[in-house]
Amino acid sequence: MSKTAGNEHIKMLIVIGPTAVGKSSVLEHLLRDYPRLCDIITYTTRPMRAGESEGNPYHFVSEEEFKKQVGENRFLEWAIVHGRMYGTPRDQVESANTEGKVCIMDIDVQGAKKMMDEYPGAVTIFLMPPSMDALRQRFLKRGVTSEADLAKRLESAQKEMAQCQDFKHVIVNDDFDSAYAEIRKIIENILENQ
Ligand code: 5GP
Repeated sequence: MSKTAGNEHIKMLIVIGPTAVGKSSVLEHLLRDYPRLCDIITYTTRPMRAGESEGNPYHFVSEEEFKKQVGENRFLEWAIVHGRMYGTPRDQVESANTEGKVCIMDIDVQGAKKMMDEYPGAVTIFLMPPSMDALRQRFLKRGVTSEADLAKRLESAQKEMAQCQDFKHVIVNDDFDSAYAEIRKIIENILENQ
């Protein structure tokens, strides 16, 4: 039996794009505007940042705990992003599907490709910055630790952006309202056909 057997009809929305491009604002707006959407709280081994707490925006676990969960097949996909482990929990996605909800998630390009293999009905949106310079300004505003840190983030953003054509929709987040209006059309289409 193929690994996607039974998953073909399942719809979900995956938002991909470089850090600081605006993915979390998109997800926040979608959750506020569409009650049938369900946010997936993914797992990470990275340390919590100021203003974060357990479950917001991640389940924060040790590397040992993460590896244990990998061994128990608890992740639909997992990847190393910026040197830390991140994984999408199988149970949250499955219970959302059982409840007739549509999952939305913010994961990296590697994870999104694995989810597309597993769930052929997954709709993907790659959110693009208007320019590299705009992205650099967003990184600086968010706080970078050094020039090397900034360079590393810009390099990984460029690698991700080079893969944007592998995803169904590419939307430039120049003006948030117009980018969000395009995203609303996509999600409304998913919800009508689910
Ligand atoms: P940050 O630690 O800055 O919040 O996120 C770093 C990156 O990890 C983001 O680009 C986000 O999309 C990605 N990410 C978050 N959760 C997951 C996950 O469960 N799986 C994968 N593959 N990537 C994730």
